[in-house]
Amino acid sequence: MGKIRFIKTESLKAKPDQKKLGFGRYFTDYMFVMNYDEGQGWHDPRIVPYGPFQLEPSAMVLHYAQEVFEGLKAYRTANGGIQLFRPTENIKRMNISNERLGMPAIDEELFMEALLELVRVEQDWVPSEPDTSLYIRPFMFATEPHVGVHASSSYIFAIILSPVGAYYPEGLNPVKIYVESRDVRAVKGGTGFAKTGGNYAATLRAGLEAEKAGFSQVLWLDGIHRKYIEEVGSMNVLFKIGGEVVTPPLGGSILAGITRDSCLRILRHWGVPVSERLITIDELFEAAENGSLEEAFGSGTAAVISPIGKIVYGEKSAIISGGEIGPLAKKLYDYLTGIQWGRVEDPFGWTVKVV
Ligand SMILES: *Cc1c(COP(=O)(O)O)cnc(C)c1O
Repeated sequence: MGKIRFIKTESLKAKPDQKKLGFGRYFTDYMFVMNYDEGQGWHDPRIVPYGPFQLEPSAMVLHYAQEVFEGLKAYRTANGGIQLFRPTENIKRMNISNERLGMPAIDEELFMEALLELVRVEQDWVPSEPDTSLYIRPFMFATEPHVGVHASSSYIFAIILSPVGAYYPEGLNPVKIYVESRDVRAVKGGTGFAKTGGNYAATLRAGLEAEKAGFSQVLWLDGIHRKYIEEVGSMNVLFKIGGEVVTPPLGGSILAGITRDSCLRILRHWGVPVSERLITIDELFEAAENGSLEEAFGSGTAAVISPIGKIVYGEKSAIISGGEIGPLAKKLYDYLTGIQWGRVEDPFGWTVKVV
């Protein structure tokens, strides 16, 4: 196992029913952990029994939110193998987030080795029921015991694993969303392009209110003009308007989703016109009114593609694709999940074999 130490657990957990996994509720027997200390760098990479961390109440992450995370999945293929989808992109993005949060970079090779080794150790946890996978959550946080605003001098990097089913119990059924006009998620110059917990903390109030009002997600507008569309919930957002797929550009306030990038590459490969450009909420409602808004959907690792059936903005509301999943969103979903689960040939070289 190279330089990664292994500590065996005393007892293995019972595996949950694969038909009732939900999302992010069960965790496997082992986790990967590594420590950083100033002067020493990263040290002691190890795979150990899954369990609580010991933290000082003054650990800086609890006060100043110096934290980043990633999310990817391991997929069980029809021949019993296991593969990852574009893991190098998650590794690179985690270091981009680390840099923004003033946190030390992680060696990319060691990160990859840790991912592969942990999933190999836990291969029996990769479920095989349709639409199930093993969600992989790498994360890193500040541990220095010090109540004073400053970048921490010590960190923990860890990877935990969770067998998951479909993200939305309603599956590919289109969701209802509303356009958030009070809260904003991020602004250019802030941390919007980093995958950090603080961005999520800023969204939780709107999420609660959306839920209370019967919506699944909110559509975020830019924090300055309050008119340009940014993301939907914790996903990137794509629209098909007049035959062209349009998505907001990566301008610093939105996350560079790997699913977003994969969708754009697949669409270009198919010859579908694609444009990364600013799109205002008024343009979207005009397109809905004149009939040129054909489809709308979110993209992200957890749900892959999440069709939007209805958008509400103040007094206005629009039904999209007759409230059904659009044909292009469905085709993208089938193709992308086909590559991920190994049912479709991968012409892009995106999958990485684990076993
Ligand atoms: C993780 C995330 C996404 C989706 O990224 P993927 O790499 O496609 O999973 C989109 N928006 C936000 C805010 C995210 O945190």
